[in-house]
Amino acid sequence: MFLSSSDYPNARDLMDALRFLPEEGQIWLGEQRMLLMPLAASTFFRNELITTLGMERARGLFMRLGYYSGLMDAELGASLRGERLGLEDSFLAGPQLHALQGHVQAVPISLEINLEEDRFYSEFIWKDSFEVDVWRSRGQQREPACWTLLGYASGYATQLLGREVQYREVSCRSCGDDNCRIIGKLAEEWPDHAAFADLLREAPLIDELYELQARIATLESDLARTRETESWGPIGSTPAFREMLTMLDSAAPSEVPVLLLGETGTGKEILARRLHDNSLRASGPFIAVNCAAIPPELIESELFGVEKGAYTGAVQSRMGRFERADGGTLFLDELAELSPRAQAALLRVLQEGQIERVGGESVTEVNVRIVAATHTDLLTRVEQGSFRQDLFYRLNAFTLNVPPLCQRLDDIVPLAKHFLSHFEHHYQRRTLGFSDQARSAMHQYRWPGNVRELKNCVERGVILTPDNKHLTEKALFGDYRVPTLEREKAQGLNDTGMLMPSPDEHSSNASPRQRIQPLLDAGMTLEEVEKALIQAVNSDSGGNITAAAQRLGMTRAAYAYRLKKHQL
Ligand SMILES: [Zn+2]
Repeated sequence: MFLSSSDYPNARDLMDALRFLPEEGQIWLGEQRMLLMPLAASTFFRNELITTLGMERARGLFMRLGYYSGLMDAELGASLRGERLGLEDSFLAGPQLHALQGHVQAVPISLEINLEEDRFYSEFIWKDSFEVDVWRSRGQQREPACWTLLGYASGYATQLLGREVQYREVSCRSCGDDNCRIIGKLAEEWPDHAAFADLLREAPLIDELYELQARIATLESDLARTRETESWGPIGSTPAFREMLTMLDSAAPSEVPVLLLGETGTGKEILARRLHDNSLRASGPFIAVNCAAIPPELIESELFGVEKGAYTGAVQSRMGRFERADGGTLFLDELAELSPRAQAALLRVLQEGQIERVGGESVTEVNVRIVAATHTDLLTRVEQGSFRQDLFYRLNAFTLNVPPLCQRLDDIVPLAKHFLSHFEHHYQRRTLGFSDQARSAMHQYRWPGNVRELKNCVERGVILTPDNKHLTEKALFGDYRVPTLEREKAQGLNDTGMLMPSPDEHSSNASPRQRIQPLLDAGMTLEEVEKALIQAVNSDSGGNITAAAQRLGMTRAAYAYRLKKHQL
């Protein structure tokens, strides 16, 4: 049935239900106490809720506000008109009450109520929606935004008809349409009825907050565990390494810049982190920069920040790493790669504690401790003129040499075991540990990539080793055969770099007698053989007594005694 505004029943009955009791400070509509409040307050409130909760949550909240009002008003409509005028007029009391309360003028277009045949259809045009007014302060919206009104229409119809009815606002003036128009149908006729019903359900923020809190706690403990397993810096008993650690720790509480020298993969960043964690700046930020990984033309803006418009592409001002590290530690890895201009700027930070953004005109004070690292020989760079001498002397005040892994033979197995348990946990594996040959190969290998290479090697081994098996040399090193000392003596490389079969007299299946025959032929005494052996092992182990003793199958003391005896 098609309708117009003249089809509304006389609203006298509704108006008579409205009572103002100013002496008592009350307004009543039927059985409900009402409130009269300025629209502007509602605008402020809405803006605040959107800021606090975001658009989607605010939308649900306002729809529910309207929905509950609609439920209440439907009781009033039914009690005033139900018996006297019938269902349709009771239904029309909804938009009339809405108008009476100052929300909106609803012009009826079409209405069909036939619940016996499951038919319900209703269409209205809203004029002067209060919500369009409220939205005006926020500019044009992208979607229909008469949330409270829509909730009211759905709540009123649902309560009055005893069937779930949902309205949709198919056009809305707050998003630039000519008018606000709504269509109502039984919920199941809308394909997206479940999503709409969700909006009308409470969505307690507190649950979400608790869930987030729980997730953060999990992540924090994961992070702590990762940092712990990552912290292979302090694993090591080699004197050179322990000594370096002691010095590092003693430098931590001071403010002196620290320069870490050492091959790549020796864990300089982890040591810098340890220095930071043990310093008075521990609660401040730790920012790491790999100077070699940033293109030279960007290094200055990365380190010192950039002002909007400094160059094409600098569309907005941006903080550099120095500003982000303010109050904490800045770790500059691959320091030697800094451009001359960046070197000059770095010198200025060290001397004056000030930085200037690229394209900026003012200086900013920063309080940053510098820890720098490089694997190159800085002094040579200074001599070649590619690194500033004054900067070098500034940074060289406290220098630590991080020993390469090949000078930490005793640390290889403990480190490897540490990584093994880390990766077993990570990949959910349970191996039987390293085979003897794998251990021996790890000991003999040169490890040019240092601890990082060892870590990668063990990871590979864990991936390739089935549960309840040993990690073999092949699992660790693949087809590459570690040129162990025995094999180097026994085998050579052919033209293609492959290992050649060993000569007979040195092959591993030669008898002991066959092996010592050359010594006997040369007329060597036992004393001479012993001295030669000790000498060879001593030079192979780079002076590492424990490793050398192990190699010869004797105690450290027995080995040290023989060293002394032969005056080595
Ligand atoms: Zn609207």
